[in-house]
Amino acid sequence: MFAAGLQLETNTFAPWPTGARAFEEAGIRRGDEVLEGSGSDHKTAQLWRELCVRDGHDFTPSLFAWAQPSGPMVQSVYEGFREEILSDLRSGGPADVVLLFLHGAMVSSGCDDCEADLVGRVREIVGPAAVIGVELDPHCHLTQALVDAADAVILMKHYPHDDYLERAVELYSLCTAKARGEVRPTSALFDCRMVGFYPTTQEPMASFVARFEMIERESGVLSVSFAHGFPWGDTPDTGSRVLVITDGDRSLAARLSQQIGLEIYAARDELLPRFPSVEAALAEAVETPGLVVVADTADNAGGGAPGDNTGLLKAMLDRGVRAAALAAIWDPIAASVCADAGVGATLRLRIGGKSGASSGEPLDVDATVRAVREAHDQGGLGTARSPMGLSVWIEVAGIDVVLISTRTQVFSPDAFTGLGIDLQDKKIVAVKSSQHFYGGFAPIAAKVIRAATSGAIQMDFATLPYVKKSDLNFYPRVADPLA
Ligand SMILES: [Zn+2]
Repeated sequence: MFAAGLQLETNTFAPWPTGARAFEEAGIRRGDEVLEGSGSDHKTAQLWRELCVRDGHDFTPSLFAWAQPSGPMVQSVYEGFREEILSDLRSGGPADVVLLFLHGAMVSSGCDDCEADLVGRVREIVGPAAVIGVELDPHCHLTQALVDAADAVILMKHYPHDDYLERAVELYSLCTAKARGEVRPTSALFDCRMVGFYPTTQEPMASFVARFEMIERESGVLSVSFAHGFPWGDTPDTGSRVLVITDGDRSLAARLSQQIGLEIYAARDELLPRFPSVEAALAEAVETPGLVVVADTADNAGGGAPGDNTGLLKAMLDRGVRAAALAAIWDPIAASVCADAGVGATLRLRIGGKSGASSGEPLDVDATVRAVREAHDQGGLGTARSPMGLSVWIEVAGIDVVLISTRTQVFSPDAFTGLGIDLQDKKIVAVKSSQHFYGGFAPIAAKVIRAATSGAIQMDFATLPYVKKSDLNFYPRVADPLA
């Protein structure tokens, strides 16, 4: 078995391209390097190897690389990684099963569908008899070209994506069963004509996930996936789709994918995110007893936003909120200045607002440095740690603010507590994240409020400035696009 991974969730509206340095910062592992470590790519490769050892197959890991979501990948960087994987595949001898851990929304400056391009080239090398399986993030542009090029595509079902290992096991089982000639994976895709945001921790999406799992237990059904789509990637195929894989039954796959797709479509109005304005969110937070978590949904680095928008912090300062904390503003310059000033120093500091128009204005504040940590990190999804680099805790008018040097969204309370910030006495805890914060913060929150902040991943899907997505017949731009 041959395995590789290449992941970039591309926000085509982000203000910068993604080059080699972004991958170096996040992680590039070659060959056996991926078998040590605890990131999601490590864990996935380690799991596939364990299963291979159990079943007596050899296991050849190639390149596993990912970068924090941002703008389109520089074409030469994409081609370099692609050729590295293909070269390993050619030199490794014939592979009967190839498993790929991809994102599904990777766009380079010369290609809108990097996953289909990569898998198509893998197919040219391994031939039609080999089995190619692909695991994707649900925030993908699930194209017919990719589904056609692979034997099986399986998406994570949960958002937050805490189920990537369960899906990796399913992909392994399905692809090895096909290699043994026991099943004939047959796929059908249904276009829901929707662009949306679908946290699976709340209804109605939680029940849909349970329903997908129920349908998977029906006779002849091998897998059900819902591609949420990635609204901030402008491609011809941006949007939500349902993928059903059956055992050789094309009409069953087509019927089920349409049936499930129409059920989701019928719930489209309920599924549309309706977040309060920043002002309304803060007013609600102040009125609610207990600790309230306010999510800065639009400046989420996990969706390719810079993470240095100051709008929410400014609104908190303007409102004069106390007993509040906010993480994390990505500002390596301000973090470095504060680290040099030292703990206890009070200084006039310019923070945020540097990366582009979506970052808003920088904020000039009087800050007191409370803590400095050279290599701060936080719990990530699963057991992985998420690095935040040189980070500082500054206090600004009674608000504890975390500045970081390695761009990331906030996953876990230790983004604060790891610097010494006590959350127990807080009224408002603001986090730059859309949904992946939920697992870590919901247990400590009396209430979670997702606010309609300003930033590079606006949730007003009807007005996103699509150019490549030329078919604009989608909900919520059109009320009933399937009519
Ligand atoms: Zn995702």
